[in-house]
Amino acid sequence: MRRAGYRLCCRPAAIDSLKGLLPVTIPFNRPVLAGRELEYIREAIDRGHLAGDGVYTERCQHWLAKYIGASAVLLTHSCTAALEMAAILVGIEQGDEVIMPSFTFVSTANAVVLRGGTPVFVDIRQDTLNIDEELVDAAITPRTKAIFPIHYAGVPAEMNRVNELAKRHNLFVVEDAAQALGSKYRGSYAGALGDLAAFSFHETKNIITGEGGALSINNPTLIERAEIIREKGTNRKKFFRGQIDKYTWVDLGSSFLPSELVAAFLFGQLEQIGPIQKDRIATWTMYDAALRPFHNRGLRTPTIPEHCVHNAHLYYLILPTCELRQELISRMKIEGITAPFHYVPLHSAPAGLRFARTSGQMTHTEDLSARLIRLPLYPRMGDAAQQVRDRLVRHLDQLL
Ligand SMILES: *Cc1c(COP(=O)(O)O)cnc(C)c1O
Repeated sequence: MRRAGYRLCCRPAAIDSLKGLLPVTIPFNRPVLAGRELEYIREAIDRGHLAGDGVYTERCQHWLAKYIGASAVLLTHSCTAALEMAAILVGIEQGDEVIMPSFTFVSTANAVVLRGGTPVFVDIRQDTLNIDEELVDAAITPRTKAIFPIHYAGVPAEMNRVNELAKRHNLFVVEDAAQALGSKYRGSYAGALGDLAAFSFHETKNIITGEGGALSINNPTLIERAEIIREKGTNRKKFFRGQIDKYTWVDLGSSFLPSELVAAFLFGQLEQIGPIQKDRIATWTMYDAALRPFHNRGLRTPTIPEHCVHNAHLYYLILPTCELRQELISRMKIEGITAPFHYVPLHSAPAGLRFARTSGQMTHTEDLSARLIRLPLYPRMGDAAQQVRDRLVRHLDQLL
């Protein structure tokens, strides 16, 4: 008898009706090969040059500078390293202040603190979760040296206003463009919107190489010193160009350049930026179409200003309360889907309290960061994207 019942349950139609209820395993991110990465790594090895600044580093830098429309691009180990270079380049010293949002990754702030500077946090906009440009002016003091906006979720910050204030007060602008390769603001690519910009090729970003980054330079007066800082404070680059007959220690610096193996993998990815972005945008758009109908039940989805083009770096939801956010995260987890929250505001973190200060209230930063969750989003998700969407819609129907 039991056997018959068992058999009955296993009829294909019955299995179909169970689909969408059985646990799955869907990670938040999955790094994938996009094209010829392995071939290029082999070729780099065959060339017999594995240290930095070889053929693949040059190819990536040239590709990136042309794509972004920057004066120069230098590959680094990470976006963190690029931000550290930027802090040296703009001359952050003991007691200098840098204005930035508190809703960002630790590296934006650490780069400043490592130079002896003080991050000064301002609140974020409610719509894009980027720095509220209208709060920057009030945060400027005689010690302010720079503004470090970030482009959250690959949606550019209001750079016109930021640049206008920077110009008026003689400040540098460094974009934390870690999430924003391929995004545009009023027709210009992220990375070409300030004096300097830092990109990340960490495995969770759109274009990856495990750990990697780049510094984009739009202020040509900073290029030569950037090359020196990246090469341990030596004028090695000039030497290899044949501009001097021996190279020596001339400035501050560190080892910021990645190996050719990292650059070779990265070049394989950069070549495929078109298909990678297209795939991400398709998933992003599918999530968006299914979730917008919940707006009238208190759910918020990403806002893309009309003058911005985003790169589908991430899809987030803002629940009506922190409790609902926690409930949704656990329900998704039980089903095997990783849908995590994001930044813990830096001003409230132990190191933030120790090394930084705030300018004004952090109302939106505290409120929105407590209600936000991110959905799995990576290339070639296939069926997994529909699974996430369908399960999410079912839970939201019950919760909202
Ligand atoms: C990922 C990220 C970073 C750090 O990038 P790494 O390459 O891991 O150093 C910095 N800032 C922001 C906004 C990021 O999203």
